[in-house]
Amino acid sequence: MKNTAQAVVIGGGVHGCSVAYNLARKGMRDVVLLEKDYIASGATGRCAAGIRHQFGTEINCLLMKEGMEILENLDEELGWNRSLEITHGGYIWLAYSESQAEQLRQNIKLQNSLGIEDSRFLSPEEIKDIVPKLNIEGVVGGSFNPRDGHANPFQVTYAYAAAARKLGVDINTYTEVTGIEILSPGNFRVRTTAGTIDTPVIVNCAGAYGRRLSAMVGLDVPVYPERHQIFVTEPVEYFLPCMVLSSQHGTYFKQNPNGTILMGVGDPEHEPKEFNTDASWRFLEDAVKKFVFHLPAIKNVRIVRHWAGLYDMTPDSQAIIGATPVEGFYLDLGWSGHGFQMGPIIGLLLAELITEGKCHLPIEILNLHRYETGELVYEPACV
Ligand SMILES: Cc1cc2nc3c(=O)[nH]c(=O)nc-3n(C[C@H](O)[C@H](O)[C@H](O)COP(=O)(O)OP(=O)(O)OC[C@H]3O[C@@H](n4cnc5c(N)ncnc54)[C@H](O)[C@@H]3O)c2cc1C
Repeated sequence: MKNTAQAVVIGGGVHGCSVAYNLARKGMRDVVLLEKDYIASGATGRCAAGIRHQFGTEINCLLMKEGMEILENLDEELGWNRSLEITHGGYIWLAYSESQAEQLRQNIKLQNSLGIEDSRFLSPEEIKDIVPKLNIEGVVGGSFNPRDGHANPFQVTYAYAAAARKLGVDINTYTEVTGIEILSPGNFRVRTTAGTIDTPVIVNCAGAYGRRLSAMVGLDVPVYPERHQIFVTEPVEYFLPCMVLSSQHGTYFKQNPNGTILMGVGDPEHEPKEFNTDASWRFLEDAVKKFVFHLPAIKNVRIVRHWAGLYDMTPDSQAIIGATPVEGFYLDLGWSGHGFQMGPIIGLLLAELITEGKCHLPIEILNLHRYETGELVYEPACV
């Protein structure tokens, strides 16, 4: 490992790899990425891989309007000759009460006003037409965007890492950051399990561990871990054309290109805010009942794998990105369950901010300072 760098990126998930690639693409030399395990070993490699325009805050709509375009052309941009599995089967977001439907209508209005024209509200019957096997008992309607879909999180992240390496980024896996010393304002010494490295710029992309890394430079960043569990079934005949989410149950499910069905549900009220990624039997028993309610036809389908990952949550379910009061120390954290799809656009914007001092989308609204001023930016479109 090098012992000096122009920038050190901490974390080898989709955000760290995208930031490192984009910094190098902007001409920064000697970018070093440090990952304590392997590439995509954190939330990125454990996620449901949904990509969507359907958000309820202006900033997230703007980010994903452009983010989707980047994703659609990413294989070409990164020179990746394997499939990133970008599919556009659409996303249906189910409402079970008038207040949930009203929230979805407001989200659609916002999306349409920002040029995301495909988002629209569907009646229960229209939903049934798209997903005939869905139980629509209790459904009062739903929002839908046919351009939402799926991308393979491993392929996307590996593609960024490979493109970053080609541009000279030094990627160090199994290298944990254990401490950060501020030598003088804007000059850091990063301590790792493989030695030290001096740098003027650090980007903290450590996901659920981001608070610990920020504390190393004296910053208190309100990011906390929350376990989310998910499972996948054996492959079955193709019947589910799009991803489905339920506002009522916190459930989401989709059928992968290989026929397996991926299903997840959060339990934020009962999950201790710990770094536990064990999969639990209690989850399976509760979750299976919910999914058989949504899709009675899957009753006898077997589950083949079940795992857990950590959301990096914040008090307003919104990311914390950009510069901090510690000169040279940047954050890319707090993605609260919707950060995989944001990796491509955020890497570009942070690289602009770091190398040019400004970026072309208004991400300053997601600054760390908002937790002091109380100007929170609640994202209603989260599960
Ligand atoms: C079950 C589940 C389902 C999800 N579904 C979706 C979805 O459908 N769509 C979507 O957009 N998002 C989804 N997400 C959220 C998404 O996975 C995350 O927001 C995103 O992957 C965050 O990426 P990241 O690179 O910031 O973090 P991570 O992928 O968690 O990467 C952080 C990395 O930092 C490393 N690290 C931590 N501490 C240190 C240290 N001290 N030194 C060196 N390295 C360190 C970790 O090992 C890790 O690899 C889901 C998440 C989960 C858990």
